[in-house]
Amino acid sequence: MTIHVIGAGMAGLAAAVTLAAAGHAVSLIEAAPQAGGRCRSFDDPQTGRRLDNGSHVLIGANPAALDYLEQIGARDSLVRLGREGTPFVDLADGARWTFRAGRPVPGAVLAAHLRALALLPPCGGRTVAEVLGGGTMMQRFWGPLTIAALNTAPERASALLLRRIVGEIVRHGRSGLDLFMARDGLSESFVTPALSFLVRAGASLALGSTVEAFEVAGGRIVALQHIGASTAVADGERIVLAVPPSAAERLLPGLGVPQGFNAIVNGHFRVPADVLAPGSVPMLGICGGMAQWIFQRGDVLSVTVSDADALLSLGQEELALALWCDVAQALDLGATSLPAHRIVREKRATFDQTPANEALRPDACTPLANLFLAGDWTATGLPATIEGAIRSGRRAASLALAS
Ligand SMILES: Cc1cc2nc3c(=O)[nH]c(=O)nc-3n(C[C@H](O)[C@H](O)[C@H](O)COP(=O)(O)OP(=O)(O)OC[C@H]3O[C@@H](n4cnc5c(N)ncnc54)[C@H](O)[C@@H]3O)c2cc1C
Repeated sequence: MTIHVIGAGMAGLAAAVTLAAAGHAVSLIEAAPQAGGRCRSFDDPQTGRRLDNGSHVLIGANPAALDYLEQIGARDSLVRLGREGTPFVDLADGARWTFRAGRPVPGAVLAAHLRALALLPPCGGRTVAEVLGGGTMMQRFWGPLTIAALNTAPERASALLLRRIVGEIVRHGRSGLDLFMARDGLSESFVTPALSFLVRAGASLALGSTVEAFEVAGGRIVALQHIGASTAVADGERIVLAVPPSAAERLLPGLGVPQGFNAIVNGHFRVPADVLAPGSVPMLGICGGMAQWIFQRGDVLSVTVSDADALLSLGQEELALALWCDVAQALDLGATSLPAHRIVREKRATFDQTPANEALRPDACTPLANLFLAGDWTATGLPATIEGAIRSGRRAASLALAS
């Protein structure tokens, strides 16, 4: 019995790996010429370096993602960041501090820290700002955390989703806050080893192949339609649909999905060694500027701006210059010229993680008996992250097997 997995992002890869590991025949179908979806690497001629579409961080409280990497033999491809805590700088007043669990946030009074308790009672339907208020604690802690984890401003972001992450971290104890990144690249950690695993398991992979429509009869899908071709879905075969919400809505008219997306912009700068020694900058959080996070891999500094729709109207050079100014200030580089760079705008980085959209996330089961949904936007209970995507893929796979 073949299980067809449509979409080779993190959710589809996790589903395919789970099914192949359980000994099932898997057919993985991906529209793009490469797998990985929103989590991938590419060779960039502008910097002459291999870059990620955007810096991705895992935390210790991401058990499914870490287990997936173990399963595909890539757990060692992660590096741990910020063993001594996460350094921050506030560009507005030059304040610098290091975040560590249990350490106070500078400038925030005890009462502001205790406001975290407001996350304990059920907070469904409310935003992070409604539950946690404003002030320094929001500006220097809850705001950066919310925007990084939910890619949505605190004034719009679902408090329930923030509460879930905090709950996951607390459940994992101190190690829940450990931070990890791909050592060489997202594809090298999350994608290529998964494809090798699937090939070894005898799965069939069709890259550059878009499923345009489903043929439905008797309450189940009987064929997958591609341009000019059709793949029959035999009795007993199942389908995991692991595409973004917009594509799922097109394939399944009437499916309720979250509405709207938020962008993430990344600026990658290849910095000469006389400006900054390779590997010398730890992960750095930035408040009070346009840049939000800086990461360094070799001689490339990567700058992340989440919830970045407001930046989409800026030109590439304007954006690169503004981000580089923040980097130079944050790292005390003085007056340095703009190095070779690449700006990556992911316009649909994640769905808009508001309370209203949280209520619209569909379950994996569908009215069609042999179709199961996966993706970071489905009802995982988690924000749209690698962890959520992988859990959704694994769940859809197990439902497909149990049906
Ligand atoms: C810049 C950026 C930074 C991020 N940072 C982090 C981070 O630090 N930590 C974290 O955990 N998460 C982060 N995320 C989120 C994370 O990347 C996503 O949650 C995850 O990759 C989503 O995986 P997915 O499989 O659900 O969806 P996708 O990656 O969107 O995969 C869906 C796949 O389906 C394919 N597809 C679409 N339509 C069809 C069709 N009709 N037929 C066949 N295939 C189709 C697409 O081409 C795509 O490959 C970030 C995302 C971005 C963009």
